[in-house]
Amino acid sequence: MLIDTYGRVATDLRVSLTDRCNLRCTYCMPEEGLSWLAKPDLLTDDEIVRLIRIAVTLLGVTDVRFTGGEPLLRPGAVGIVARCAALSPRPRTSLTTNGIGLQRTATALRAAGLDRVNVSLDTLRPDVFKTLTRRDRLPDVLAGLAAARDAGLTPVKVNTVLMPGHNDDEAPDLLAWAVAEGYELRFIEQMPLDAQHGWQRDGMITAGDILASLRTRFTLTPETDDERGSAPAERWIVDGGPHRVGVIASVTRPFCGACDRTRLTADGQVRNCLFAREETDLRAALRSDASDEEIAALWRRAMWGKKAGSGLDDPAFLQPDRPMSAIGG
Ligand code: SAM
Ligand code: SF4
Repeated sequence: MLIDTYGRVATDLRVSLTDRCNLRCTYCMPEEGLSWLAKPDLLTDDEIVRLIRIAVTLLGVTDVRFTGGEPLLRPGAVGIVARCAALSPRPRTSLTTNGIGLQRTATALRAAGLDRVNVSLDTLRPDVFKTLTRRDRLPDVLAGLAAARDAGLTPVKVNTVLMPGHNDDEAPDLLAWAVAEGYELRFIEQMPLDAQHGWQRDGMITAGDILASLRTRFTLTPETDDERGSAPAERWIVDGGPHRVGVIASVTRPFCGACDRTRLTADGQVRNCLFAREETDLRAALRSDASDEEIAALWRRAMWGKKAGSGLDDPAFLQPDRPMSAIGG
């Protein structure tokens, strides 16, 4: 098991397939992009699958989520999903994507064994989409979402970050749209993980703001803690149900005590937290012929040292060196 000194057990593995992206969301990346990882530094498809196999067969991981960067930019993404879904025991599989490549890949991903997708979409207004992502691709994302639903990658969840002065007035419209389309909407509080270090606590839209805005148009009833489990999203029943809306309040209502995550970057580093400032190099071990057991031991040690919380409330908080796109959000 991947247990830490606070008794938390990590069963949910986030795997970054690439640090590259075809959007430039303002809260994530600078306009000019970043200096991408060099090809030889990236794990190969075989290396990724081997690490997932070790996690699933030796370390108790039950859920694997592919992310990035934009995971669908990796040419071998569908093949990696297929090999992961063929493992025994079979992990639950999901993918977080900006949706642009989904229209092309949704059917193949489903056939490969992918269970679900989360698609990130912050606005339904083309001009705001262009400002927030610095690309004019809203129609591609909407088409990708529909393709995912039609392919059965359900429930399709939509991740939304609200940014002051851009889309912070759009929460009720987004929820009405998600209910009509059959998507489950989840708002994510903006976190200090952007490469430009532009996050400001005073300026961010909080879970409280989001709920107040939604309640101007909807009746929201909280789900019980039993229904939530270790999931980071607190969920509310919309207008008596069955539809739900979630809020991931990483900043104002952190859920670190129930965290069950372990993360693998595209260059083979284990991170025990989004906000960790240390990483453990599994790529070096892979490339020096370490055995599965040796790699598993390194991974266990990396998780054992996980801190109690993100440290966001500590005045000495320091952003991790890598931005969200390179960690794997
Ligand atoms: N490119 C894919 C996408 O956008 O879905 C996957 C990677 S992206 C880093 C994963 C998620 O992180 C997205 O839902 C995105 O909105 C979110 N994200 C990125 N930067 C963030 C930040 N600074 N605060 C909160 N969420 C952020
Ligand atoms: Fe790309 Fe996702 Fe970051 Fe947007 S949030 S720039 S889509 S990695």
